[in-house]
Amino acid sequence: MTERYDAVVIGAGHNGLVAAVTLAEAGYHVLVVEAASEAGGALRSAELTRPGYVHDVFATNLNLFLGSAFYASRRGALERHGFEVAASTRPYASAFPDGTALGVTTDRDETLAELGAASPGDAAGWRELDALFDRLSPVLFRTYAARAPSWELARVGLGALRSAGPSGTVALGRLLLSSCRELVDEYLVTDKAKALIAPWGLHLDFGPDVAGGAVFPFLEAFADQRGGMAVAKGGARTLVDALVGVLRAHGGELRTATRVTRVSVRDGRAVGVELDTGERVTAARAVVAGVTPTSLAGDLLGPADLPGPSRRALTTYRYGPGTMMLHLSLSAPVPWAAGERLASFAYVHLAPYVDDLARAYADALAGRLPAEPLLVVGQTSAVDPTRVPDGGHMLWVQVRPLPATAPTRRRGGWDDAAPRYAERVMRKLERYAPGIGELVTGMAVLSPADLERQNANLVGGDSLSGSMHLRQNFLLRPAWGMSGYRTPVRDLWMIGASTWPGGGLNAVSGYQAAQRILRRGRRPR
Ligand SMILES: Cc1cc2nc3c(=O)[nH]c(=O)nc-3n(C[C@H](O)[C@H](O)[C@H](O)COP(=O)(O)OP(=O)(O)OC[C@H]3O[C@@H](n4cnc5c(N)ncnc54)[C@H](O)[C@@H]3O)c2cc1C
Repeated sequence: MTERYDAVVIGAGHNGLVAAVTLAEAGYHVLVVEAASEAGGALRSAELTRPGYVHDVFATNLNLFLGSAFYASRRGALERHGFEVAASTRPYASAFPDGTALGVTTDRDETLAELGAASPGDAAGWRELDALFDRLSPVLFRTYAARAPSWELARVGLGALRSAGPSGTVALGRLLLSSCRELVDEYLVTDKAKALIAPWGLHLDFGPDVAGGAVFPFLEAFADQRGGMAVAKGGARTLVDALVGVLRAHGGELRTATRVTRVSVRDGRAVGVELDTGERVTAARAVVAGVTPTSLAGDLLGPADLPGPSRRALTTYRYGPGTMMLHLSLSAPVPWAAGERLASFAYVHLAPYVDDLARAYADALAGRLPAEPLLVVGQTSAVDPTRVPDGGHMLWVQVRPLPATAPTRRRGGWDDAAPRYAERVMRKLERYAPGIGELVTGMAVLSPADLERQNANLVGGDSLSGSMHLRQNFLLRPAWGMSGYRTPVRDLWMIGASTWPGGGLNAVSGYQAAQRILRRGRRPR
């Protein structure tokens, strides 16, 4: 039997759910089909190490989601379905091998005093960057949230040029083209101060010397200084449950543990999907694919469905380096050599310096295991103590950047290499927090291969579902002509981290695509 819906959404990542909610609210009969056993994609939480310790398995920092237009307009509904925010006023810090650390808090004067105590030049440079953020961030954030191309984007661009004047336009242009090393070298003096900003580039695939790599770390560093950092109280799962709750309240349906194997195309138009159960589902109005470009072109569409140039553009889409996750439960806070205060920051970056980031990035690209990978040490229970039993603590440790395939003698790839590489990570942690090993009461390791097994969109463990370098960013993400979420197949839309504005819990593509579908007037019958 063929089931009939107005729209079928492939993938219950947050973008898929956001699209489904937006369409269902407008009266569409929507089905979301998810390959994994639960919804959420790279947004999930689970008791990975011990009962009562709720770890965010993948993403944890919700700042992008909380800044989204979708959240602004659905906040009440999500809260009614159980979503709450836990926020930290101490968003990030970096620790150094000499037992010192630098931290950024939402109290700008506190941050400046800390920087200035070590180097007055750093405090002055930080102040200048802060002023640059005030000047440029409104246009950059509006660009980020807009569909590309669109009239809104053109208006944002023209307005920005008019108000910024020639000097502001030059500043913006320089920022957009700079590498992160160029930015921090221009404004900051010491290696330690530079190490506060540059690690943010490697949250995407911007090694410190990649052109165009300055803008994200700059925005993240100073936006967090203003807003702190937020996670979902009780675990990321609460946000997923709230999205699914809102969807169901509007008559939408979710089917998990079911893979879409084919988009059905008739006369150049998407008319439904085929499932791995052998069933067919009809979509009268739209098929919204939250998958990667390579999967869409290589698996879900037949050669006859997609014109040659578009097929080539999608199948040659590139992925960035991989990521590994270590989840730890601890019997006490991290015994940082730099002192107790550091245990209260949401993230602590350990690389430590810009040169270390550059070496790790080069190693990952060359297929080697970095000797000194960047550790993003998320102290989740310091931000949200409700996730652990009394007296318990947890860490969310992201290890980046890593090659998609681990070089091993026995050719076992990451399945062989992950346990030993996790030991290397623990040794690095031990150098900055002597004695931490004795506090560990549970550990779960997810290699890049595990990430991809759990979510096919995380190709090679790439947490962003595609390199964010300029060649496939903005109007080129995922490919020229498809940044507005339409594909060459009529009524087939593509959303998710592989589309503009890229990876992260930004909720932009799902929301923008759904609004476009609704604007086109293909209302439900
Ligand atoms: C380890 C890790 C840490 C991260 N940390 C952060 C963070 O702290 N903050 C942040 O903002 N971002 C973070 N990110 C990035 C962010 O989580 C992702 O960019 C974002 O979740 C992407 O959302 P999405 O909806 O586009 O797709 P995804 O969340 O990737 O979901 C896609 C879904 O589609 C499903 N799917 C794919 N193919 C099919 C098919 N054929 N049939 C059915 N279902 C299919 C998949 O199973 C998956 O559930 C992190 C990512 C990872 C991996």
